[in-house]
Amino acid sequence: MDKTEKIFMEVRKAGRNYLLETEAKSVCMEYGIPVTKFKLAKSEVEAVKFAEEIGYPVVLKIVSPHILHKSDVGGVIVNLKDAKDVRDAYKKILENVKKHKADAKIEGILVQEMAPTSTEVIVGAVKDPQFGPAIMFGIGGIFVEVLKDVTFRIAPITEEEAREMITEVKAYPLLKGYRNLPPADINTIVNILLKTSKLVMEHQEIKELDLNPIMVYEKGAKTVDARIILE
Ligand code: ADP
Ligand code: MG
Repeated sequence: MDKTEKIFMEVRKAGRNYLLETEAKSVCMEYGIPVTKFKLAKSEVEAVKFAEEIGYPVVLKIVSPHILHKSDVGGVIVNLKDAKDVRDAYKKILENVKKHKADAKIEGILVQEMAPTSTEVIVGAVKDPQFGPAIMFGIGGIFVEVLKDVTFRIAPITEEEAREMITEVKAYPLLKGYRNLPPADINTIVNILLKTSKLVMEHQEIKELDLNPIMVYEKGAKTVDARIILE
């Protein structure tokens, strides 16, 4: 059994069909999909220690099996610049979560590196009952949310198909650099699409996968949030 299967087994054992961000990012790492550095803290002292190891600025996030949309409950605080910021954010997140969902089980607080703002893209996968897994690509923000500017291919995809997906979305010119946005590392996006395709082909129990957003830089990229839902 590979590490990804082990993670899925643990998730099922816990009575869930969805992965926590820590678990989803661990699966991404298994497949070489770049993610932000992260560590799960169980106390305020540990959160500060991890922040120092990762390096400021950091982001703190709630990790709970009962909270899927973390920012909806005030469970994400970004741009923490020192130990005091981390301690304050740690308390604030627990307070916010208590207010919104008093009975939520809390696994800990995730400390992660803050990915500098850049062009955001979205890579996803959904399983069609007839065609099997399909891979989705879009450029983040209003392009996906409002304009539904996304494209799909049935998995497995080839490198050529991955490149087509990227160039056929309407917002593609943004990836070539626009105003204060640097040109994006297209090869890295191609790579992420191919690795996502490999992941869902090798693990057919994945019902939905969502890497949203991925910050893309002139060189490299970082997945900031990841969700995986199992059948
Ligand atoms: P949610 O569960 O609400 O989707 P996210 O993890 O996506 O929570 O966090 C909400 C938003 O906060 C993200 O869309 C992103 O804009 C910002 N964010 C979260 N984590 C990071 C990070 N590590 N670096 C930079 N921005 C982040
Ligand atoms: Mg998100």
